This record gives sequence, C-alpha cells and structure tokens, in this order.
Amino acid sequence: MSEIEEREVIVENPYHTARFKPVRKGKKPPKLIAVVHQSGCTGCEVCIAGCPVDSIELVPGPDANNPQFQQMVEIDLARCIGCQNCSHDCPWETITMYEHNDSFTAWGNETIKSELYMPSSDLEKMNDKNGISLEPESTEAEATESQATETDA
Ligand code: SF4
Ligand code: SF4
Repeated sequence: MSEIEEREVIVENPYHTARFKPVRKGKKPPKLIAVVHQSGCTGCEVCIAGCPVDSIELVPGPDANNPQFQQMVEIDLARCIGCQNCSHDCPWETITMYEHNDSFTAWGNETIKSELYMPSSDLEKMNDKNGISLEPESTEAEATESQATETDA
C-alpha cells in the first residue's frame, strides 16, 4: 500500500444533526440562550429530556468502536428559546444562560465538539452500526431535477 493510500482522511463529525432541524419560530430572539461548557459535560443526557424544543443533541465521541467514550452534548443556539430547563437540570452545572448576543461568543469559546474530527473510516463504521445515512434528503430530488433538465435540453 502506498503512503497516500495509508493516510487517513479526516472528516468533520457530522452527528450534530440539530443543524438540519428548523430554527425556532418568531421574529424576536429570546433574552437568554443556553450554552454548554463542554469541558464539564459528562454526556449524562439529563438535560436532553427537559428541552421543549429539542435543541440539545448528544454527540458521540470520536471512537467508532466506543462512541460513548467522550460523548457530550451540543446546544443549537438557533433553536433554544431560553427556558432555562437545561441549566437547572444539569447535575454538573455546566450549562450557563447568557444574554442573547453574548451567547454566540460563549458558544465559540465553550462548545468545541463541532470542531472535533474523525477518520472517515470511523465515520463509515459508525454510520453502518447506527444504520444512518448522512446524505441530505434533497440530493435525490436534486439528481432527478438535474436529469430532467438534461433530458429537456
Ligand atoms: S434553555 Fe430551554 S430551550 Fe434552550 S437548550 Fe435549554 S432546555 Fe432547550
Ligand atoms: S446534563 Fe450537563 S453533564 Fe449531562 S449531558 Fe447535559 S450538559 Fe452534559
């Protein structure tokens, strides 16, 4: 096997699927937004159950053979309505409510999981194990549309 073939391709951990969910309704943003300090998150999942808008997502750790190792949660700021349930429920007091505008800076400093990367081979293993396809649903429709355009031309 050549040196290039042996090199692993590193891809972004895409298991934070909250980004595919619709953002919250209403024009006025909430006064407060929840930010998880991931350095203190144990991945216990307690906060997830109490979120009324499903904005807290469990993200598996980077080892496909042991996804519960280093698992933690992310909070999708675009969905959070600031109800404070999670900050009250977290047994490790690792979720803080920030003023709306400050929350984005805090998120950037405290929520790191989206920046974690894994070898593509591990990602494939994890997908197979969980029966998950990460292909966007629109791909098939786009392909059909593109074929139709080619046929029309
Ligand atoms: S503050 Fe409320 S809406 Fe926001 S993430 Fe926590 S539980 Fe969900
Ligand atoms: S309750 Fe706290 S420690 Fe548990 S998963 Fe949520 S943020 Fe992490």
